[in-house]
Amino acid sequence: MSIPACVPAPEPAADEDGRPYANGFRPAVLEWDGWTCADCMVCGTGAACVDCQACTHFAFPYPPHWARPWVEGEPERGIEVFGGPGGMSAGRNLVDDGGEWVLIEYNRHAAATARAAGHWVIEADIRTLDPRHPVLRGVQRFHGSPPCQTLSGAGKRAGWNADEIAELQSVMWQASEAFGFLEVDDLCSLYGGPHGYFGDVLDGMEDHPDADGWGELCGGGHLPPCMTPAAFREWAASAVSDERTALMAEMLIWPMCLVQIGAPLLSITMEQSANLLKQSPALAEAIQSEITSVEGFGWAWCSWQVADAADFGAATHRERAWMVATRYGWPRYADQVDGDQAARAMWGHVLKRSGALPDWTPELDRRIDPYQGRPALPTVTVAAALDLPADWWADTRGKRGINHATGKPKGGGSFPLGEVGPCVTAPWYGIRFRPSDVPQGEGTHTITAPELGALVGFRRDYPWTYLPARAGARGVRNIAQMIADPVSPFMGAAVSAAVQGEDWYKPVATYQAALYRLKDPSADTGRPALPAPRAERREIAQLELFPAA
Ligand SMILES: [Zn+2]
Ligand SMILES: [Zn+2]
Ligand SMILES: [Zn+2]
Repeated sequence: MSIPACVPAPEPAADEDGRPYANGFRPAVLEWDGWTCADCMVCGTGAACVDCQACTHFAFPYPPHWARPWVEGEPERGIEVFGGPGGMSAGRNLVDDGGEWVLIEYNRHAAATARAAGHWVIEADIRTLDPRHPVLRGVQRFHGSPPCQTLSGAGKRAGWNADEIAELQSVMWQASEAFGFLEVDDLCSLYGGPHGYFGDVLDGMEDHPDADGWGELCGGGHLPPCMTPAAFREWAASAVSDERTALMAEMLIWPMCLVQIGAPLLSITMEQSANLLKQSPALAEAIQSEITSVEGFGWAWCSWQVADAADFGAATHRERAWMVATRYGWPRYADQVDGDQAARAMWGHVLKRSGALPDWTPELDRRIDPYQGRPALPTVTVAAALDLPADWWADTRGKRGINHATGKPKGGGSFPLGEVGPCVTAPWYGIRFRPSDVPQGEGTHTITAPELGALVGFRRDYPWTYLPARAGARGVRNIAQMIADPVSPFMGAAVSAAVQGEDWYKPVATYQAALYRLKDPSADTGRPALPAPRAERREIAQLELFPAA
């Protein structure tokens, strides 16, 4: 096994046992003298951290009160990377509104939307943030929805290049070693002693006085962390042609660095294009094996599966790959299935083409089953969700020409409203609804942003926000893209409930009934219904139409 290349640093630092860190590693907290709000003179007099310059500065860009070390009984702290406009958070809040989450999001419109929805959002390129920030030592939960352009069917599919994926996979396999979770028999060669990685005597060290025995420098343990997040990111990016594919490595960099600095991390969840699992399972394998490897990170559970939001209450399909990992014990809804059968179903297309399953795949013998034998939530059609006649049609692409060979319209893009809809995509801002006797593309009934969001599973008053780059720009396309990309809150609730909060079933049934104005099957539970989803309020009125469409 190769040891990752390490970054030289000016001064050696000592680990918790007083030994110098190997290879020049300097943990981020090295520059930190241990100061927290507990030592703060200002807060000591009763000021809140948010009003205290020292605490605000120390915690930046995280919430000022995170300057206080987390203690048992306080709300859980969570980090959500690639948080988008807040789809996962909206789902999580349905089952657990007691935690404090920080979202990291690069897109300014999505960040502004999530902020308007009430979240603490750091608008930044994640690669500029160091997960070893001392205030993150209290983080218990981690979620990520890495961008999937390079893995989705719509993108250029750079993420499907087998050589690149293999290269990135082998980089990711080194994460637990790079960040200090690899247990080795003898660390002494790192400090000038005669023994190597596995306790063997090193070449040229045969005459060392400790060669045949146990010396002062000897001892097994975890290989000290030897890479910074920045160096690991650079290494991952060097493996692929599109650097966005390398963002997948953040799903190991953050959890491992958080645990390395002492965070009591309990769970990791991840959402990705279903194609990650179907077409590039090697990356899912790398994540699963690094998280569960007993000689590495050693977590108790890491499962991968594909799930469709329409099976969990949404009025449109949204098939995504989901990963759930727990540090101690199994998640809620843990389910064991026949892994070979699951593999043949997942990669049947590969088996058919090449006669074999992919070389590297995650184990599919475990998954979460949020239903646990309970009846499925009601299926909601687009017609029911939008209160339109069930025999109408939708045209997503306007009027198409006629294919003269078949006499039928070219290009498709139409679907009946009497069914669960296809996955919402950005061009849906221009959708036209029509009775079936109106020719394709000649419908006049348009869709609003709140309606488009509702089809994905967002409440109708969700504060979709566009920050105009020039006066008068309305961002129709940006808002539609923002609605098309994120996690469906329905699915976010079911997956979040696997690791935290309360069971998803009743709260989500109530939410679904209110969102789609169903007769509420759990109305007798006494849970408050959502506010009336009509557009009397001004901010909704502003979003009511996609006028430029
Ligand atoms: Zn203070
Ligand atoms: Zn303070
Ligand atoms: Zn030794």
